[in-house]
Amino acid sequence: MGCINHPNAPVSATCKKCKSELCGICTQYLDSGEYCERCASVAEADAYVKSRDSNEELRQVEMAQITTARITEEEDRIKSRSKDAIFVKGGAVMGALMIIASLGLYAFPNLMKSDEQLTEEQSITRLVACQEVFQAIGIMLSEGRIPDSSMSCPGTNIPNIILRQGAKVTVSHPNPRQFGLDELYVTSDSHRVVMVGQGQG
Ligand SMILES: [Zn+2]
Ligand SMILES: [Zn+2]
Repeated sequence: MGCINHPNAPVSATCKKCKSELCGICTQYLDSGEYCERCASVAEADAYVKSRDSNEELRQVEMAQITTARITEEEDRIKSRSKDAIFVKGGAVMGALMIIASLGLYAFPNLMKSDEQLTEEQSITRLVACQEVFQAIGIMLSEGRIPDSSMSCPGTNIPNIILRQGAKVTVSHPNPRQFGLDELYVTSDSHRVVMVGQGQG
């Protein structure tokens, strides 16, 4: 048998793919080997696709590397930017706190106190004022006078309870509970303000 196309021509090669015997004219020499014309075009197409694919892969790998590098760069930039931002923000907050603190300390001391502290202080202030009223009542009682029922502690409209037991007169606060007391009174016997209960500690 001779060449598949030229049976009389001597065979110089066999197609790598279809194993056809080929004469020198019909043999296609490619990098990957010797082929018949038909198989050579298929092999060339394959080689082209393969190289194109590998180039595409390479391109994608390169793109991925570039993208990763860009992301890392951007992350570094964001990190350093947010560090600045936190620093600036922290500075602003600290500044505001300093202003509030100085306003609170020098202009509005009550702003720096808790509601509980304020309530307790107001209660103590009211109790002290109330004690003064009862001391005045005690002095009146020691002088043999009966205090007017309008003589009551500041901040209350409820008159004091005036109790007479023979010669003894007791003037009691109508609502000692507001000071945490069980009793707050003064008698004509001692003229001293008596406070019964735990008070405000
Ligand atoms: Zn072939
Ligand atoms: Zn041939």
